Amino acid sequence: MKTPVPDYLDEVLDSLRGDTSGANATYIPELAEADPERFGIALTTTLGRTYAAGDADTEFSIQSISKPFAYAAAIIDRGLDRVLESVRVEPSGEAFDELSLDGATHRPKNAMINAGAITTHSLLAGPGAGPEERVDRAVSFFSRLAGRELRIDERVCTSELGTAHRNLSIAHMLRNYGVVEGDVPALVEGYTRQCSVLVTVRDLSVMSATLATGGIQPVTGERLMDPAVARHVMAVMASAGMYDGAGDWLVSVGIPAKSGVAGGIVGVLPDRVGIGTFSPRLDQHGNSHRGRLAFERLSRDMGMHLFASD
Ligand code: GLU
Repeated sequence: MKTPVPDYLDEVLDSLRGDTSGANATYIPELAEADPERFGIALTTTLGRTYAAGDADTEFSIQSISKPFAYAAAIIDRGLDRVLESVRVEPSGEAFDELSLDGATHRPKNAMINAGAITTHSLLAGPGAGPEERVDRAVSFFSRLAGRELRIDERVCTSELGTAHRNLSIAHMLRNYGVVEGDVPALVEGYTRQCSVLVTVRDLSVMSATLATGGIQPVTGERLMDPAVARHVMAVMASAGMYDGAGDWLVSVGIPAKSGVAGGIVGVLPDRVGIGTFSPRLDQHGNSHRGRLAFERLSRDMGMHLFASD
């Protein structure tokens, strides 16, 4: 007899709960305070059915998981050609906060590392948009993807802004090379606000299921992006979503994904499901340790590896 999906998800979490490897992110002081035992998972099919287990309704800051969705919004707002003028689509194999730009063109290598994500944030809401309009665009787009009104965690945002020297230096470098324009501190504040949006694993699974359908939010039925935009974003997630662990992730899990330093991971299997996990302890690449193990289980048990033919 087949195990019902919620029982199966409970069993996956139970089997991994005892693994306390890794540690909460500390460079954002507020994240160090998060309860490291939290563990949740949700799966949304392209037909809009969500299955969840564990801490599925606990909110945490989206952090870098905002990057693929803000990237989609920038492509919608400015067109793919304009976005490609500023951000490349090459895997960098680098840490999320690497101070690096492509040698010849000085463009960020992809939109999943901070340099690329700060640049895509600067492109939101059309030419000439101010800092507030860009943040509003990100929050309202994420809300439509999730199918509910999302909000910013001001404490996390303030906490990160107090120690944002590295992102400020990345943004100054981008400004120096003319990749971004305008006021650098306002840009970093906007990007940090984008990263401070609160989500649950349910939200993440619905948001990524919208990529899996090729752009139709599977619960509300609203078309939020063209299939070509969803395909482009999923391809960049596959090659660069897990930072310097991206190659290993693609080989062992085989699901396009994006992690965030608060402990979330979002994964998407085209035409099938969106998946969200949450567990705050991170491994050496900055990816959620138990989240990764949960993805490995799902990939193996449910035949989700993109390149599996068996
Ligand atoms: N807001 C974080 C930063 O820019 C996001 C990093 C992450 O989630 O990997 O440093």
